[in-house]
Amino acid sequence: MLSLWNEEDAAQFARDPQLGLRIYSSQLLGRDTDLVLHGGGNTSVKGRLRNVFGKDEEVLFVKGSGWDLQTIAAPGFAPVRLDYLRALAALPELSDTDMMRELRLALLDPAAPTPSVEAILHALVPTRYVDHTHADAVVAISNSPGGEQALRALYGKDVLVLPYVMPGFILARQVHEATRGVDWSRLQGIVLLHHGIITFDDDCRASYERMVALVSKAEDYLCDRGVWGSAAAGTVTAQTQDYQRLASLRLAASQLFGAPMLVRWDRSPAAVGFAGLANAASIATRGPLTPDHSIHTKPHSAVLDADPLPGLQQFADDYRARFSRHAQPHHTCLDPVARTAVWRERGMVYLAQDTRRLQVVADISQHTVRAMQWGEALGGWTALPAQDLFDLEYWELEQAKLKRGAARAEFEGRVVLVTGAASGIGRACVDAFVAKGAAVVALDIVPGITQQWRSAQVLGLVCDVTRGEDIQKALEAAVGHFGGIDILVSNAGSFPASCPLGSMDDKVWEDSLALNLSAHMRLLRACVPFLSLGLQPGVVFIGSKNVPAPGPGAGAYSVAKAGLAQLARVAALELGGKGIRVNTLHPNAVFDTGIWSEDVLAARARSYQMSVEDYKRNNVLGCTVQSSDVARLAVLMAGEGFSRTTGAQVPVDGGNERVI
Ligand SMILES: [Zn+2]
Repeated sequence: MLSLWNEEDAAQFARDPQLGLRIYSSQLLGRDTDLVLHGGGNTSVKGRLRNVFGKDEEVLFVKGSGWDLQTIAAPGFAPVRLDYLRALAALPELSDTDMMRELRLALLDPAAPTPSVEAILHALVPTRYVDHTHADAVVAISNSPGGEQALRALYGKDVLVLPYVMPGFILARQVHEATRGVDWSRLQGIVLLHHGIITFDDDCRASYERMVALVSKAEDYLCDRGVWGSAAAGTVTAQTQDYQRLASLRLAASQLFGAPMLVRWDRSPAAVGFAGLANAASIATRGPLTPDHSIHTKPHSAVLDADPLPGLQQFADDYRARFSRHAQPHHTCLDPVARTAVWRERGMVYLAQDTRRLQVVADISQHTVRAMQWGEALGGWTALPAQDLFDLEYWELEQAKLKRGAARAEFEGRVVLVTGAASGIGRACVDAFVAKGAAVVALDIVPGITQQWRSAQVLGLVCDVTRGEDIQKALEAAVGHFGGIDILVSNAGSFPASCPLGSMDDKVWEDSLALNLSAHMRLLRACVPFLSLGLQPGVVFIGSKNVPAPGPGAGAYSVAKAGLAQLARVAALELGGKGIRVNTLHPNAVFDTGIWSEDVLAARARSYQMSVEDYKRNNVLGCTVQSSDVARLAVLMAGEGFSRTTGAQVPVDGGNERVI
């Protein structure tokens, strides 16, 4: 690996003399996923702060929990009293729960984030800067036969190599003991076997570049043995029934988990290559890259055959048995659902309760799969004993989080598919479901849809819903990405130019029926197999006030929407037995949509001899109706509040005298 240090950038950061360079090189470390992933690793700088009494205090600014090195900024560094940390390090014993309380007590700013669990370790190193990463190459070597000796030989006597112990206070004590009387000026770094590496210096750049140099040595070691770049690659053609199997897997996993989960199928060459290895099942069940990962991914992968359900159940049975073997009476068993799985010949599968965690699992798995093949090529991938892995996964700090519990957003873990999502009501629906925690698949014919939401929560796909093959492709992409479809918001439509029946243009008529009616049927038909495997499944059709109260000149539109309302009623009857609810909402006069340009609005207002403002509020409640109002009703219809309702048609129009 290469140093990313750039003096011009560094000079910009250095305008903040206390934290600037610390922020800069932390971001450089965070940018390299071979060094740290998602909140992994931590950094610190020692400095001074003047307290309210005008007295200077020695401070350790250390990464706060909840911050990522790649994006860390000044508020991400928690200021902790250095002498307090050093005093804690001298204690013979301290539980990690007590340690975390002491770390908060030692903060100089009560609003700061909780200091990293490694804060005491950082305090023990006397240099100004300390960098700690979980470099893949270093950890992978330590997870191979003779790895410890190999690392000792590689780094020589100027790098301390320490056996694995639990992170937190025990690790701080280990470093404290191991460095008693050591000449820090000669020490280049500390390797923590199966965990990571620490470098340090009074100069920020020197500490960062020593990290780069030491990790490069490990990478060179892998290159010299022909191991680097040795990971398998492969391709697979997905079969239609594989998507059904994924949706079944997601349903079964959610039932085991006790709440909705998302599932992702990784068909990248690396994932397929790994899943095609004869010994993939054996390697993938030995253990993680570093025990730390087991908090996110469980200690190992599940192994799935073509029918993935037995493999999921097998993992759950093994997981519970393992818990019984290692647990103490005070431990609470976590859910038994695998987070990663080798799907034989097909690739890797990831499972998580929300899109953020799904991405974490995917990233960790991709690095682990590569490192496992390095370890295998070095003589055999080896992980820590099961008890060590258990101790970390069931670390008291992690168990405490369970007791605090976290409220789930209403739609967390559920998948919503919205058509016509680029603008108007469709876009408002995407935003409204995202705000409620859903994973959303946003379809539109507009190419910009793929970039419209730069969020892991939204998958934007180009799709012409009048084309059956477009629909099929989009659904497969959706199920491959999130594992299923729970809610369909069938919205895509258009309002054709006004045209009386006596002079109806055939194309206008047929195009309107194709988009405003037939496309909804085809989409529903294609979604039914997935909705049938969905979690609290439902369909929301976006109808129109024109169904109960048509207007002259809008025949092509009104007839199609009336057909849509009838489609929804039949669907409610047919799908009720599968637990799929189908409801329709009828918006009217939603003026912030593409249909209503300023000119059209002005013309309509004129024809009623009203001002535009009065025309907008021309309803019983005298209110305007926005896309977001319609979206709110769509969310409500998809949610718990409508759990006993199907076949309903609800207006969202401010009250219309002709409808009431
Ligand atoms: Zn660490």
